[in-house]
Amino acid sequence: MVQEYKRTCYSCETVWHSLKSREDAIKAGASAETGQSGQQGSARSCSYCGMCGGTVITMGNRGANGSKAELDRLRTCPSCGSHNYFEEVLEQEVLE
Ligand SMILES: [Zn+2]
Repeated sequence: MVQEYKRTCYSCETVWHSLKSREDAIKAGASAETGQSGQQGSARSCSYCGMCGGTVITMGNRGANGSKAELDRLRTCPSCGSHNYFEEVLEQEVLE
């Protein structure tokens, strides 16, 4: 059983969906952010000069704030940016 939110924007009537499990994961990640929960810390060449051969480890600037922003994005109308929406929870059988 998969649960997802079906959100309908009051302003422009755009309908979009957001997986409940995804939002739950983000919420969990935002409160227990350790910096290694599925982060793609990527090693790449120094981005400052591109020539020195130095390695920069980027942790993806996705700490608690990043997670919160992601959650915020999921709760924002993708069409007009409104936070004014009607929400339903849909349940779907997953056939596997
Ligand atoms: Zn809208």
